[in-house]
Amino acid sequence: MKVHPYLRPGRDFAYPEYGAVYPPDRGFSVKHLRLELWIDFGSRRIRGIEELRLSRSDGGEGWVKLDACELEVLKVTSDGAPTDWHYDGQLLSVKVRGTEPVVAVEYRASPRKGLHFVGPDRANPGRGLQCWSQGETEYNRYWMVLLDHPSVKHTSELIVHVPKGFVAVSNGDLVRHEVVGDEEVWHWLMDRPHSPYLISVAAGEFELIEERHNGILLQYYIPRGWRDKAHLSFSKTPKVIDFLSSYLNHPYPYRKYAQVVVHEFIFGGMENTTATTLTDLTLHDELAHEEFSSDPLVAHELVHQWFGDLVTCRDWPHIWLNESFATYLENLFVLHDKGEEEFVYEMVRDLDSYLSEYRERYARPIVTRVYRYAAELFDSHAYPKGALVLNALRSLLGDEVFRRGLSEFLRRFAYRTADTEDFRKVMEEVSGRNLELFFEQYLYNAGHPVISVEEEYDEGSGTLKLRFRQTQGEDSLPEYWVPVRVEVNTGSGKREFRLELRSREEVFVLPVGERPRWVCVDPMFEAFAVIERKLGDEVWIRILKEDTHTYCRILAARALGKSGSERAVEALGEVLRSPGTFWGIAVEAAKALGNARTESAKRELLEALKEVRNKKVRTAVCEALSNFRGDREVIRTLTAVFEDPTEGYYTRQAAASSLGKVGREEVRELLLKHIDDPSHNNVITAGCLRGLAEIGDEESLKVVMRYTEDDKPSHVRAVAVSLLGRFPGRREVIERLRELSRDESYRVRRAVVAACSELFTPQVLGILNQMAEQDTYEMVRRAARDAAEKVRKALERGTEYKALREEVERLREENKKMLERIAAISRPVEVKG
Ligand SMILES: [Zn+2]
Repeated sequence: MKVHPYLRPGRDFAYPEYGAVYPPDRGFSVKHLRLELWIDFGSRRIRGIEELRLSRSDGGEGWVKLDACELEVLKVTSDGAPTDWHYDGQLLSVKVRGTEPVVAVEYRASPRKGLHFVGPDRANPGRGLQCWSQGETEYNRYWMVLLDHPSVKHTSELIVHVPKGFVAVSNGDLVRHEVVGDEEVWHWLMDRPHSPYLISVAAGEFELIEERHNGILLQYYIPRGWRDKAHLSFSKTPKVIDFLSSYLNHPYPYRKYAQVVVHEFIFGGMENTTATTLTDLTLHDELAHEEFSSDPLVAHELVHQWFGDLVTCRDWPHIWLNESFATYLENLFVLHDKGEEEFVYEMVRDLDSYLSEYRERYARPIVTRVYRYAAELFDSHAYPKGALVLNALRSLLGDEVFRRGLSEFLRRFAYRTADTEDFRKVMEEVSGRNLELFFEQYLYNAGHPVISVEEEYDEGSGTLKLRFRQTQGEDSLPEYWVPVRVEVNTGSGKREFRLELRSREEVFVLPVGERPRWVCVDPMFEAFAVIERKLGDEVWIRILKEDTHTYCRILAARALGKSGSERAVEALGEVLRSPGTFWGIAVEAAKALGNARTESAKRELLEALKEVRNKKVRTAVCEALSNFRGDREVIRTLTAVFEDPTEGYYTRQAAASSLGKVGREEVRELLLKHIDDPSHNNVITAGCLRGLAEIGDEESLKVVMRYTEDDKPSHVRAVAVSLLGRFPGRREVIERLRELSRDESYRVRRAVVAACSELFTPQVLGILNQMAEQDTYEMVRRAARDAAEKVRKALERGTEYKALREEVERLREENKKMLERIAAISRPVEVKG
């Protein structure tokens, strides 16, 4: 086999000027960080007095360099005495002496990132004041002085001064809280070492709910008005802690776990040690609860308290040790909490989301040093792909050995950092196996195996011939080692075979005794591979209706949707409507019927809306109905769903956007009538806006433009802004996008990039290039650069096409002239005149 690290470095991830990024080597370490912080909500400014206890091997005089961005440094001392120092806006250099110097810094700042202020605004006049930090990747340096890299670990302490009535939450235990005059002081101590990006503060007017669970103090900091709904988001917290402590055979590592809900958070959640910050978008009411769950987010951030906070990736290239683990263990909690079907469906959707990044954007090794911004590594390779790799590893080793490996990894690297090789060696030690090939295939190379399977039964010998071909492209390894299970179903029962694929083409002859009714490849979704099969509809129907494995049934539903035959549609409809069907399979059946687009597929979908009550399935049916443009009955049915307040918010959202697509101009008034109906995260408004964008006329554009204004919530504005990409060829759209490219909201700016990437005109290049250079956030810069690249390429293709057409025109013209000349030459002389 031809496999070695970085044989396949990937495609389209690294731009030409990208090089290897190495961690800083500053020659000293930090023992403890103590920061006294004054937060001024009015001016959005802070003042800090910070003390860093350092450790140096050289006891003589020397300089230390600390990360500190855009601060106004007022005073620096070393061991309490004035010392030489200089500051360039990025690095603070301080002259120190001795092996354990204490550097103290006094500074002021109005941070552009790292520390965010929110408060009442035009869209949220009743909103309370909040100030929250986001350290990952390297943003804490915008509001404190530190050695800002994940390889660093030390204890920390924050003494936060806020106005009376405000709460300030940080890492570790609350050691002191007092009211002094019109000020409150919150003193938090994190007495176990953690990495600097995990230091956090969140201050504001919160309502606090507290409980104790197995000696752990659980705190929930909720914005005003949401107290009575908090249990819908957080009631699983103790169950997740119990599951993880037991699965990992490692108790929750700290004494407190706080979940702090903040406004305008730029991610879903951030696992700051003992003090996770979460977006307010996760809060929801009872109606939303039937379709929407905070459990995955709660579980994900909790996993990080072990993988990420207790054991931290030593450097950003190893971020999968944080993110893939959080993603995968979040799914294992689903397995524990909801069972096998839900777990497999989660994993299949992880595969879908990795494949969409792989197909539409790029391929890269999960572990790579070649990048520009650390933030670029937080993608669908680090999250879902890594989770799929861990799933393959668990399948290879077995659950018990896998668990013991994780437990040993945690024990050995607790309160320390680790890299991918550390993890591999622990897993090898515990399992007694050699895992180099596995790691090189899936972690140090780009791509994945694509396996096509053909089957042929031989009556004479009673054997089943299975031919496996690895058909992955150039960005993946030429051949993978893939252990795979196969289940063969015959009239008299089922038999399981374990096969090992090692080369591009292999044939296995299996003694099965009688003609198989169907074969399920990788029934438990254990191999990390894309499986491709060409089977007749009747076989797919058997799998969809009779097989017990979620994965094979999903593949069957998808294949039958592509086929669209009468028999296929009938089977999909039956499975969709059957009350016993797992909702994930029903959702896939609905999607497949939408893809089939036939008259009978439409009938099945309409029937399903009469019978199926599950809100997630109803949402999928409404989405699938968008494929039947102009159909009167579809319009009538979707209208009824859309106007029914007992339907789920997400179902009504799907109905709204499908109505726009199916009904066009004639549903505009209907969408406008309900566009401001209250819903979870304004999803109904978002659905109406999408519907209007489908209509796509000037009237609709006016409304979409109206919702980009700042009296609307930022997540609604983001939807409206991204939909501007559906209105090409309008100067006012480009002008609006240009204005919004400097908007205060991160969500809005991301949406500007999305909109621009749909508008294939040279005018958006200016906007995108500027964002790629100047946006505050690296992720926006990267997205803008990718979008600019996409538009430029499309325009070049367009220009090439234009040039080609001109060439054809020219040739045609010449040809015509030539023909005329020939005609003139050959014209008989007699007819002249
Ligand atoms: Zn995470």
